[in-house]
Amino acid sequence: MHGIARRHRYRATQVCVAVGYTSSRNDVGDILYNSSGQPDIPLRPPQNLTAVGQRRTYHQKCGRARRWWHALGFILQLDNPNLPDGFGLYTHLDVPAYRTFQELRIAALNRSIAGLPASRIRMHVCWGAHKGPHNTDIPLKDIVDLMLDVQVEAYSVEAANPRHAHEWHLWEHVKLPAGKILIPGVVGHDSDTIEHPELVAERICNYASVVGRDHVIAGTDCGFGTSRLHPTIAHLKLQALVEGARLASQKLWGRSEVSA
Ligand SMILES: [Zn+2]
Repeated sequence: MHGIARRHRYRATQVCVAVGYTSSRNDVGDILYNSSGQPDIPLRPPQNLTAVGQRRTYHQKCGRARRWWHALGFILQLDNPNLPDGFGLYTHLDVPAYRTFQELRIAALNRSIAGLPASRIRMHVCWGAHKGPHNTDIPLKDIVDLMLDVQVEAYSVEAANPRHAHEWHLWEHVKLPAGKILIPGVVGHDSDTIEHPELVAERICNYASVVGRDHVIAGTDCGFGTSRLHPTIAHLKLQALVEGARLASQKLWGRSEVSA
């Protein structure tokens, strides 16, 4: 097993409940509790599980947990930073080999959510909440088709940081499938600088211009709860997000209400 992946071994022996938020309201991070009421690990996709037996156990346990989640009426978020971020972990793989590596895991992920309505599921992808140069990140264009293969309704994608902010242009050429929603990060966790609401609005409008105003929800790059942002900074960023969404609503819809 890869040395880094070993640190991310998952326990799939307890049922987890997300007491949660949706990105349209805020994205300060999900709070997870196990069936005993204790905080537990996030239930992530099986990207880092390498042994066949581990994956089989994961599907059996987590498939049940996800169905229970859904039965409770929550929106299920699959936190899948590994889809982009894994490229930096499995450094022996070039892009074609990495895509093959991920294809198997995407198929496994789809199998684990089979039967659940896509309208109640979203997936978050990012290049890791850590601060760093990110100059070796795999571009979104090299994995966007894999991301869209996951059978969810909404895709939350890191898009505010300086390494990936330009990637909204990708959607000028890549068609978002019918009925799908993009949740681009329009405020980021990589800096303490508070984004100006006008910039937030500009980012939202950029996405609306390429995928349609009905298919964009403003989000954050990653959950702020696990980042290194001071809570005050995080709240100010969320304020900027709301103000920017209000400005964008005026431009796109002629109204200033922000739906949560
Ligand atoms: Zn993230």
